[in-house]
Order: sequence, then C-alpha cells, then structure tokens
Amino acid sequence: MTQIARLLAANEAYAAARASVADANPTRRLAVITCMDARIDVFAALGLHLGDAHVIRNAGGRVTDDVLRSLALSSHVLGVDTAVVMQHTKCGLAGVTDETLRQLTGADLGFLPIDDHAAALRSDIAILAATPYLTPLKVIAGFVFDVVSGEIDDIVRWERPA
Ligand SMILES: [Zn+2]
Repeated sequence: MTQIARLLAANEAYAAARASVADANPTRRLAVITCMDARIDVFAALGLHLGDAHVIRNAGGRVTDDVLRSLALSSHVLGVDTAVVMQHTKCGLAGVTDETLRQLTGADLGFLPIDDHAAALRSDIAILAATPYLTPLKVIAGFVFDVVSGEIDDIVRWERPA
C-alpha cells in the first residue's frame, strides 16, 4: 500500500469511531507552539484532549510571523489567553548555524537556529509579550521537552502586568 493509501485507509476506521468536538474554541483557552519533531506527542505530553488547545508547529518551535498570525486569531477570535512555547532536547535546530542549514537545504532562509534553549525561549516570549495585538494573552510559559525521558523543564514564565 502506498503512503497515501495507508492514510486514507486509516481514516476510514478513524471516522467510524470518532467523537466529534462541536466548539472550535479551545476549552483550555490554550495555544501550544512547538517543534514539528516527530517524537513529540503534544497532547499526551501535556495531558490535553481533542478540543482543548491550538497546537502550532514549525521547525524548532520558534515564534515566527506565521505563529503571530495564528495567535492573533487564537487570542482574539477563539478565546485563547495562555500560550506555551515548547522547544525540546536533541532538536535539529540546536547547535547549528544558519550558514550550515542554508548549505544543507539550498534555501536562503533565516532558520532561527537555537544556541541555548533558555535564551531562545526568553527571546520568543519577549516577542509575544511585546506584540501589541496579542494583549488577550495573559500568561506565557517556555518549556523544554526532553525527547528521551518525556519530562518537561519549566524554563520561563511571563504574566501580563495587571
Ligand atoms: Zn525540533
């Protein structure tokens, strides 16, 4: 079976058994920004269920313009007031340079490589906190997920001043 056929076959079983969620507003009023890394099961790792949270994923779990675009909608339209930025150990963006990644991919992009998770999380959370249209976000946390142990290191916490 091809990769695509396997997906469609799996979907038949899924659709037959699925419990649908009617409300598009995340019930935990939460958005999680994390890496696309295949080893991170975001819902299981954080005790979340379908309908609880927005999950916004990209390479590195970095705050990019597209993350800001999504959070503008999460926070203003869909009731989200809490954001978690969750990077992880053994990330492909850690300990590399833009130059290396440009050579590797042939893409002349800013890849937002990570030298130090604490510094990257502080920088990304500072962007979220300072973005004028994200004022509905009241609490932001920065985590590092350990892909070996599954444990989370709680690195940064920010709350909007009253
Ligand atoms: Zn990663």
